[in-house]
Amino acid sequence: MNAVPMNGDRLVMAPGEMRRVGYATVDALVELLADQRDRPVLGRAAPEQMQQRLGGPPPEEPEGFDRALRYLVDDVLPFRSNLQHPGYFAYIPGSGTWPGALGDLIASAMNLDCGNWMESSGPSQVELQVLDWFRAWIGYPEGAGGVLVSGGSAANLTALACARELRLGPMTERAMVYCSDQSHSSVARAARTLGFRPEQVRVLPSDERYRLRLDALAAAVDSDRASGLVPLLVSANAGATNTGAIDSLPELATYCAAQNIWCHVDAAYGGFVVLTEEGRSLMRGLELADSVTLDPHKWLYQPFECGALLVRERGALERAFSVNPDYLADTEAQHAEVNFAARGLQLPGQSSAEAVAVPANLRPCCLPRRHS
Ligand SMILES: *Cc1c(COP(=O)(O)O)cnc(C)c1O
Repeated sequence: MNAVPMNGDRLVMAPGEMRRVGYATVDALVELLADQRDRPVLGRAAPEQMQQRLGGPPPEEPEGFDRALRYLVDDVLPFRSNLQHPGYFAYIPGSGTWPGALGDLIASAMNLDCGNWMESSGPSQVELQVLDWFRAWIGYPEGAGGVLVSGGSAANLTALACARELRLGPMTERAMVYCSDQSHSSVARAARTLGFRPEQVRVLPSDERYRLRLDALAAAVDSDRASGLVPLLVSANAGATNTGAIDSLPELATYCAAQNIWCHVDAAYGGFVVLTEEGRSLMRGLELADSVTLDPHKWLYQPFECGALLVRERGALERAFSVNPDYLADTEAQHAEVNFAARGLQLPGQSSAEAVAVPANLRPCCLPRRHS
């Protein structure tokens, strides 16, 4: 193998060239994003067609940035659904915005690492601030914990891992998770990832308004306890993906507290309706949940991917996830410092890009207007 010469120049571009390729990229993007109505909504192709355009061995020689950009514009980007198109309604598309995209660019260009405070106090404070806004919006008490993650799926996984670690410790075949037939597939996938077998996830029927039936939940919990199983977590919906259904959050939270079951609310789709008066009343009880999943890349118009998990109990995330390896011995958080790596699975974090992207979009002028 030919080693790359120990010459940093290969990785560094001269400022003039940085500007030139940067402007060329922005020009190409603006061109692609302008006049959406005149563009096709869908761009589909068969695997052979894509293979023909993009297949082949890695180039022997560098091909240069301009060539790479042309490939993207001609052979890659036309072949995708155009989620920004005003006529695109399929699934639950995100609709990123330009300020959010520039936030991602800034985070990538600066190569931010939000894993620990010592290395990243500025970006960490931005992430803390954004999470604190979310905390206040959903009605959690001051000091509640949170972390930005790569999306709703990652947030649900993190919530289940946190609950299992704090309430149960090691995984057992007796731990049970409950959700409704309207719950997002990521709940079952999170359970599988963490070692729950399919029979450890009870999918309960919903009522005529697609809400988890409390009587069905109570019956399942009673019967599971009678068989020696350990009810661990209920994943409720606050804006189910199929129908927008919102489970009876106050009743569920009260029931779970009485039963010592972790009450998680998956509000990836619907959570940010709390920014409106009407939405806030629909989401009554969200603040009682032990943890809440939110997806800024849905109703906050962040580019993919940006999710968030909030956990009501102060310090719960750290208690679940903090591990201090020798190579990070110097980074241990002091006093009010927060090391985001200690709050979840990701080390430098998805979160760095998102922490910049979120506020880029959330200047007050960009906030969804509240009903008054
Ligand atoms: C979209 C969605 C998810 C998954 O979120 P991703 O960001 O796509 O990983 C989870 N739950 C609900 C209710 C959703 O709508």
